[in-house]
Amino acid sequence: MPEGDSLHRAALRLQVLVGQKVDVETPHPRAAAKQLAERLDGLVLESVEAAGKNLLLRFQGGHVLRSHLRMTGRWRVVPRGTARAGRPWLVLRGAAHEAVLWNGPVLELDRGGGPRLGPDILDEEPAYDAMLERLRAQPERQVGEALLDQRLVSGIGNIWRSEALWEARLSPWRTTADATDAELRATLEAAHRLMAASVAGARPLRRVYRRTGRSCRRCGALVRAHAQGDGARVAYWCPTCQRGGQEPKS
Ligand SMILES: [Zn+2]
Repeated sequence: MPEGDSLHRAALRLQVLVGQKVDVETPHPRAAAKQLAERLDGLVLESVEAAGKNLLLRFQGGHVLRSHLRMTGRWRVVPRGTARAGRPWLVLRGAAHEAVLWNGPVLELDRGGGPRLGPDILDEEPAYDAMLERLRAQPERQVGEALLDQRLVSGIGNIWRSEALWEARLSPWRTTADATDAELRATLEAAHRLMAASVAGARPLRRVYRRTGRSCRRCGALVRAHAQGDGARVAYWCPTCQRGGQEPKS
């Protein structure tokens, strides 16, 4: 699943079209069925922003197109009229460029709002207190799992929850009730710092993510991995630096 930082990069690329009246086409039949071209063609694209795991495209008249990329979706921005093979979901054509959405499995049009998301971890000054309040309202949840709930904090995906928890020395298996405000806040701050660096183009060294069975870069213990939560996303952690909670046995 694309993380918040890759969505932010897509949002940056799409800025070249903001403020322009766009021609809208939906070459893919599944997108054509949504009648997006009929409703959006010729409107001014007013803004494009990443919000959690969604890209929100706001058009003149209050129309908001929500694009969730899942595993496969990709936005490309190319010079207008560039030849292509295949059927993209959506083409937004401006004066000099066009934005092309390939394999966009989730594309929904609504007026205002969008899903109810928690504060965005990639905001310039993230609303840490509001995030803590939302995490505190779910005292039984394990921290590693709660960090992926977009209604509590939006934008954190599997890579950065593992990396941020390692940075803060907090076990993903502890419950939020069992973690201090300082620990939770340090985790959120680490996620923000790492993800902001990634948006800026840095390639941070992975500390635990996909390093199962290799040595922790801090203490040398072997990194573990185990599926966690309803979504069974794999959590990675150092059992020595990140102690406690209902750690799985094997
Ligand atoms: Zn360690």
